[in-house]
Amino acid sequence: MLIGRLIGVSRYRLSPTPAQERALAEHCGHARFVWNLAVEQHAHWRPGRRSGPGFAEQCRQLTQARAEFGWLRGGSIVVQQQALKDFAQAVANFFGNTHRKPTWRKRGHGEGFRIVAVKAGDVRRLSRTVGEVKVPKVGWVRFRWSRAVPGGVKSYRITLDRAGRWHVTFAVIPESIPVPGTGEVVGVDRGVAVSAALSTGELLCAPTLREAEKARLVRLLRKLARAKRGSNRRAKVKAAVAKLKAREADRRRDWVEKTSTDLARRFDVIAVEDLKIGNMTRSAKGTVEAPGRNVRQKAGLNRSILAAGWGRLVRRLEHKACGRVRKIDPRYTSQTCNACKHMARESRESQALFLCVACGWRDNADINAAKNIRDTIKDTAVGHTVAARGGAPSGGPANREPQRDLLLVM
Ligand SMILES: [Zn+2]
Repeated sequence: MLIGRLIGVSRYRLSPTPAQERALAEHCGHARFVWNLAVEQHAHWRPGRRSGPGFAEQCRQLTQARAEFGWLRGGSIVVQQQALKDFAQAVANFFGNTHRKPTWRKRGHGEGFRIVAVKAGDVRRLSRTVGEVKVPKVGWVRFRWSRAVPGGVKSYRITLDRAGRWHVTFAVIPESIPVPGTGEVVGVDRGVAVSAALSTGELLCAPTLREAEKARLVRLLRKLARAKRGSNRRAKVKAAVAKLKAREADRRRDWVEKTSTDLARRFDVIAVEDLKIGNMTRSAKGTVEAPGRNVRQKAGLNRSILAAGWGRLVRRLEHKACGRVRKIDPRYTSQTCNACKHMARESRESQALFLCVACGWRDNADINAAKNIRDTIKDTAVGHTVAARGGAPSGGPANREPQRDLLLVM
């Protein structure tokens, strides 16, 4: 797992002086202001209408805004322009159906900014454990040299987490891992009880808090509910809660790195569900998979899917297993029997168990789905198989659809 650690986790703890911290916070404020300005300009967008102003137009507006507001002019143009770039990317992701619509940024949530055009001398090592990075308008800020800084850093991002910790992340696209050449295809299904199920039968769990930590979190949240708004005590409890959550996020990030490296090394082709988290979220209101059933339950389920960092896992896979990731339409993969290809919602006995109503095949529901995902790649002749839709076990002549259409390779 050494490589996974080296290329994935390029985040370092910053230790700014109090004065630097104020300057960094100001950059964050500018980035947030510019982002929110862009959100406002896009707010009038509706499906079918022309999209809002593009990046170039917004840059012109930024110049105007800087002319108008002295405090904005005093800030770094790089920080402000990159905030617009980030927003343009977020909009592209939204239209690409991989992310939700970008929304307002609140103070204290996801604070950060990006610096580009970093020169070779802008990151340097001072001692065995201390390095420093040059930040425009702030100067040299020290960071903990906890691992080797990758060479050729072109950009970095500085963030403030909910626990009040500053980090710098140097942008390095991880090297692509060579094809193992085993000819093996794996299907990966995003689970709920577990974070990912593999067609090999493996169930992978992203780490969460340990039991003692969970108990502590519950106690803290109870305390928080009782603490008076604006009190010192409340601020303290809030910071403790944030620290626990940040720890959990760190562990998950680490897990994503290890898992993506492992999959890229073991399999030639990795088949995953197409990343339409937006669609999944909408399906809570009722669509193909479960028309309007268990809306509440599904809403909770969607939250945990998002929390499981599925999107990040797929992104890292695409970096590491470059050109070897296939995204497939996930519809019906969870309702189709991998043994006989019969499709029926009733076969999904429970969240955890798949029990085919036609042939009696039993499997973990997520693994059954992962196998179907894998087979869309493996078995291109699957189009000959005919699946009966919801009902008649042996498949009457009615309601027949070729499997090929059900499991479209995107
Ligand atoms: Zn079956």
